[in-house]
Amino acid sequence: MVPAGLPQDAQRATPIHNTRMALLTILEYPDPRLRKVAAPVPAVTPEIRKLIRDMAETMYAAPGVGLAATQVDVHKRVIVMDLSEARDELRVYINPEIRSAEGEAECEEGCLSVPGYYDNVTRAARVHVRALNERGAAFEFDAEGLLAVCIQHEIDHLSGTMFVDHLSPLKRARLAARARKKQRLAG
Ligand SMILES: [Zn+2]
Repeated sequence: MVPAGLPQDAQRATPIHNTRMALLTILEYPDPRLRKVAAPVPAVTPEIRKLIRDMAETMYAAPGVGLAATQVDVHKRVIVMDLSEARDELRVYINPEIRSAEGEAECEEGCLSVPGYYDNVTRAARVHVRALNERGAAFEFDAEGLLAVCIQHEIDHLSGTMFVDHLSPLKRARLAARARKKQRLAG
């Protein structure tokens, strides 16, 4: 996810040069691979930990506040997020599940897979989430505010759902036309 109202490079992180990490390519709407449903992670292996490092670097470089593995064409249930201003509080969620949700809140959202587009989405105001951390240990927490919005946005990605799917049919049609025009210009 990308928070609304920030120019794309306003919070660009200093590039980290580390040969153990790699920038991954972020798929862009309407790429059909963004519609795949991600599989649960059976065990947190070194391969999963490498994926987490690469996803974190990709998210920080983009920059965004959240990234789901689906967005980098890896169809495993892994999410990275960092909502801190200093960009030093990486959160990792493996096999995240929303156990309960209540209330309604509207927030302006953006997405690294829909660059430059922001719109209001209504979601649950509060969610209770269960996930595994990067060591494979289960944890649970209650979320509200931006954390609740972001975790719902990223868990949606793992099911092949994007924030634009929550918009009106008219807005989705406009966005699809915009994406087609962009593809024509690029291709
Ligand atoms: Zn997104």
